[in-house]
Amino acid sequence: MSKGLLIVVSAPSGCGKGTVLAEVMKEGGFFYSVSATTRSPRQGEKDGENYFFITRERFEELIGSGGMLEYAEYCGNYYGTPLEAVEKKLNEGMDVILEIEVQGAMKVKEKCPDAVLVFILPPALETLRHRLEKRGTESGQVIEKRVSEAYGEISKAYSYDYVIVNDALEDAVSDFLNVIKAEKMTAKRSGELIDKVLGRI
Ligand code: 5GP
Repeated sequence: MSKGLLIVVSAPSGCGKGTVLAEVMKEGGFFYSVSATTRSPRQGEKDGENYFFITRERFEELIGSGGMLEYAEYCGNYYGTPLEAVEKKLNEGMDVILEIEVQGAMKVKEKCPDAVLVFILPPALETLRHRLEKRGTESGQVIEKRVSEAYGEISKAYSYDYVIVNDALEDAVSDFLNVIKAEKMTAKRSGELIDKVLGRI
């Protein structure tokens, strides 16, 4: 059985990335990797569903024991991808989605050169501030910090494999699904198929 695709998705906060991915998950066939973080839960967030909310001590223990595929510090908190579940699902042939920020994405690219990196862009930088204000889950000060981080994050989009604009939600979702479909058809991922047609296996 061939391994699943490791898909890394990044976007600045307020880009609607969560909404795009929630729609993608409804399609089925994807495993969404739940990250660990040291930040406090926002209203409505559930432990084990949105994140594993853990202490800094526990997080550092996991780093030390090699339990993280990648991790980063973002706005004063640790965020990281627990390795075990990701490896297991990939080995079962499932496509795994990591919703992570750019430093973590670059680490995954280094460690797993086969990963597909997708960046979701807002239609414009100003759209971000408006969406964050509308969400209303962060204070004004945090919004300012996140908007200024966004500029730097978007500057890293050049290093990704695909860029999708989230203007109309349905378009962003179908663009994402098309990217994954096309990626699976690349010649570098079709060796087994070609071998079969040639009767080599
Ligand atoms: P938030 O606090 O808004 O949930 O997330 C802040 C940022 O951390 C987002 O860009 C999110 O994608 C990123 N993030 C979430 N989980 C991980 C992770 O496991 N690793 C890394 N590197 N970033 C993550």
